[in-house]
Amino acid sequence: MGPRHVIVAGGAGFLGSHLCDRLVQAGHRVRVLDNFCTGSPSNVEHLRRHPRFSLTVHDVIDPMSLDADGIFNFACPASPEHYQRDPVHTTLSSAVGVRNMLEQARRCGARLFQSSTSEIYGDPEVHPQVESYRGHVNILGPRACYDEGKRCAETLCFAYHRQYGVPVRIARIFNTYGPRMQPGDGRVVSNFIVQALRGEDITIYGEGQQTRSFCYVDDLIEGILRLMDAGVEGPLNLGNPCESTVLELAEQVLRLTGSHSRLVHKPLPADDPKRRCPDIGRAKQLLGGWQPAVALEDGLSETVDYFRRRLGLAAPVVPV
Ligand code: NAD
Ligand code: UDP
Repeated sequence: MGPRHVIVAGGAGFLGSHLCDRLVQAGHRVRVLDNFCTGSPSNVEHLRRHPRFSLTVHDVIDPMSLDADGIFNFACPASPEHYQRDPVHTTLSSAVGVRNMLEQARRCGARLFQSSTSEIYGDPEVHPQVESYRGHVNILGPRACYDEGKRCAETLCFAYHRQYGVPVRIARIFNTYGPRMQPGDGRVVSNFIVQALRGEDITIYGEGQQTRSFCYVDDLIEGILRLMDAGVEGPLNLGNPCESTVLELAEQVLRLTGSHSRLVHKPLPADDPKRRCPDIGRAKQLLGGWQPAVALEDGLSETVDYFRRRLGLAAPVVPV
């Protein structure tokens, strides 16, 4: 895409702020809309004085009327702890939020990128997950506000595409981590690193045998930018197919931080998916060979460094 006016809803969050960096660098004019419910102005503080960047406090549940050539929608809390705090607002952020943005895209002929999620597969019975799998979601469970909101958002994207010809791009994003996650975010990578650095107990939910596949943020953002520019119909999985158990992740974080924190077990939350791993064959084929390049160990090291700075902790002195 040549230089454009781009809206990034949820751009003060973890993923959105990294995308803003790349868009501003590429010469685009970027307008962030965010209600700061889980994001923070500090994530985009370094862009605040940039002439092609602006930040507006706005809840996407409320209609908006702004001109844009492209809209990236990240506006929804992403951590189970956060999205279950106000399940009504979470459901509406996805469903009504995307409706408002699709209306806007329709009005000004913009392309819309929707951040969907691996959670639309629920607790999957197909492994690894392919895009054609329709999922296994408990529609009444505590995660449904997020899962069903995101499923409805995908449905609306395709309804607007079919009915009004709005160009849409949908990424089903799998667990992504990296700098700018909030220390109190509640997700597993941030929890484990913060606990390890503070010497607190590492909280393993259940036995820790459940799996996730962790993608470093730079790899994901590269995939998102390629997808927005590509002529891809239908949703694409974006994530790193290297699968680890939660216990393996905890052990790796202990190794990288040199922490003596103990591993303690807490109850497994309801409907916690047992296995999750993306099949990225379609993304690789349609996005010019895109695939994650950052190994878990390297991405975790970067993230540990970030949290050390964020928590005001000095790096340990390595004996010579
Ligand atoms: P995040 O919580 O850091 O970012 C979400 C941003 O959206 C925050 O800045 C928040 O303040 C804002 N927001 C939430 N509701 C809003 C509303 N109603 N109006 C305006 N702003 C609102 O989380 P993230 O990890 O950056 O996730 C961004 C998007 O990517 C989310 O939509 C999430 O569902 C999706 N996603 C993320 C992951 C991941 O692993 N990080 C995985 C799958 C999907
Ligand atoms: N988890 C954990 N300890 C924590 C936070 C999470 O064991 O302190 C587990 C959680 O039960 C899940 C996995 O780690 O099995 C990933 O959780 P996260 O909230 O990061 O993402 P999601 O469940 O949405 O994939």
